[in-house]
Amino acid sequence: MAEKLSNSSRQERVNKSQWIDISIPLRHAMVHWPTDGPTLVRRILDVDKGDKVTMSEMTMISHTGTHMDAPLHFIYGGKTIDEMPLDTAIGLSRVIEIKDTESVKKEELASFNIQRGERILFKTRNSDRVYRTDEFVDDYVYISTDAARFLAEKGVRVIGLDYISIGSYKLESNVKDTHETLLSRGIWIIEGLNLSGVEAGNYELICLPIKLEKGDAGLARAILRPI
Ligand SMILES: [Zn+2]
Repeated sequence: MAEKLSNSSRQERVNKSQWIDISIPLRHAMVHWPTDGPTLVRRILDVDKGDKVTMSEMTMISHTGTHMDAPLHFIYGGKTIDEMPLDTAIGLSRVIEIKDTESVKKEELASFNIQRGERILFKTRNSDRVYRTDEFVDDYVYISTDAARFLAEKGVRVIGLDYISIGSYKLESNVKDTHETLLSRGIWIIEGLNLSGVEAGNYELICLPIKLEKGDAGLARAILRPI
């Protein structure tokens, strides 16, 4: 049957069933928040070098690479990452493309008819820009405080962004305000996504953070499938 499909319909069929990895690779000396320690990944045993097994040792903060923030990250007594409902970041989600090169702003969001309970992933110019280097990029597109309040009022379930923090590195109050606004309303945050291979639209999302006991965050693998 497959041979009888035209090229375009075959391509469509392949695309519809294909999962897209939107996580960034975890690796030694990868980008990290400037005031945090570096990410260390070291192979301590290696079958290629005559050892019986291959094993690695890893040292990193809990907010490295693609990860989810738990409310506890900013909220006293907030939920921890191991308490996250399993279906929080599994299911229908929407990728929204943001044109603004400075931040996600309330004005731009207003046209997207955002609904209560949505999982929204913001694709900004970050995706094509920030992961080309292991250096920290300090002028990434962040979420403005107004936009965070707008999303909180809408009552979205999850928001994701394509760099390692939703708040601006240059505006300390914005880091605090965006996280507190969303996390205090029970909105879970995915940071460190790479949406360069993804177009705006509706997708099935699977993102599960590791089960760090009483954790403030969890490293995660995130994947999307067109629907
Ligand atoms: Zn984080």
